[in-house]
Amino acid sequence: MTTLDLTSANPDAAAPKRALFGLSRAETADAIGEALGLDVKKARMRTNQLWRWAYHYGVTDFERMTDIGKEMRADLAALFSLDRPRIAARQISVDGTRKYLIELSPAVEVECVFIPDVGRAGALCVSSQVGCTLNCTFCHTGTQKLVRNLSAVEIVGQVIAVKDDLGEWPSGGDDRRLSNIVFMGMGEPLYNLDHVARAIEIIADGDGVSISRRRITVSTSGVVPEIPRLGAMTNAMLAISLHATNDTLRDVLVPINKKYPIAELLAACKAYPGLGNTRRITFEYVMLKGVNDTDAEARELVRLLKDIPAKINLIPFNPWPGAPYECSDWDRIEAFADIVNRAGYASPIRTPRGRDISAACGQLKSESVKQRASDRLKERLEAAQG
Ligand code: SAH
Ligand code: SF4
Repeated sequence: MTTLDLTSANPDAAAPKRALFGLSRAETADAIGEALGLDVKKARMRTNQLWRWAYHYGVTDFERMTDIGKEMRADLAALFSLDRPRIAARQISVDGTRKYLIELSPAVEVECVFIPDVGRAGALCVSSQVGCTLNCTFCHTGTQKLVRNLSAVEIVGQVIAVKDDLGEWPSGGDDRRLSNIVFMGMGEPLYNLDHVARAIEIIADGDGVSISRRRITVSTSGVVPEIPRLGAMTNAMLAISLHATNDTLRDVLVPINKKYPIAELLAACKAYPGLGNTRRITFEYVMLKGVNDTDAEARELVRLLKDIPAKINLIPFNPWPGAPYECSDWDRIEAFADIVNRAGYASPIRTPRGRDISAACGQLKSESVKQRASDRLKERLEAAQG
């Protein structure tokens, strides 16, 4: 007589595992409850245990989850994957800045940068897209051919992979090195808001990566209609890549300005939820020699921002091969900063970090450059400036 041996059923036929780092706590609990037939309370308890092992201790192997019974460990291992993206390359600067090339899938890579001594301890600059559909003329990321949105698991995965590399497990000690997250890597986060918001929910969860929303900053080139949604969905800090004080110039530097000009952008900023002295919008201003760096522009910048709780970040332009701009001279940057300073903005110059490894945020892209494009842009810029 033949019997059917169900215990040796083909394991490949099992349902695909779900990537834990892409699920909120509620979604994890739902998945556990449904698959294992547990009631809400029990599913929540298992979720708390699982999350603690995954996010607090950083374990990669379910067998190490010693306060969970053997059978339950096997069930969870069949349900979830703790895979993180592979660090394909890493460069460490003399100042401690670490630039990573992260492989999301074969031949799909993004960069992210860990910058020590920024924020409370150190900041990780993460990417939200592969490449960017926008074409800011001073930015290296702009015309990368392949463009796609990252999923939440790919965004959270960058944080987990870097925590592995920093040896930041268990998390949350007083000596923690990674305290802040900035969405200033590759891509325009507000063109991928749903995935960015989900990633922020997981990163900010006290039982997840546990970095508070006050320490998470999203930088946008100015996708105005998405700014209120960002506030409502994430309550994250906002940074605006302003870079010019009039529309004619901003149309060239940050072309999305043609769609959403400065006045509309600043109106959306003013309405951002929760603004006040301790919760200010950061305005980024890249210093381009002879383009946007006069005293008159510094005064105009201050005037434009006078009704908004703001911080100003002057960013020395980080040159790349074939770029149509140069960085302003140091004297010029200081003179510009002086005017901004006297208007009450503290230390507005962002010191370039990791320059020896081209690791500044917004400078993240492999070396295959948009050289010919930059010649065309030079012409456009000259034309726009009359
Ligand atoms: N797309 C978003 C976030 C990524 S860019 C945005 O544009 O805000 C992060 C910051 O780096 C932006 O302020 C961007 O304007 C700036 N940046 C880009 N290229 C740069 C360069 N070569 N030198 C200095 N800053 C640059
Ligand atoms: Fe895209 Fe930001 Fe670069 Fe502009 S500055 S091209 S929006 S990544």
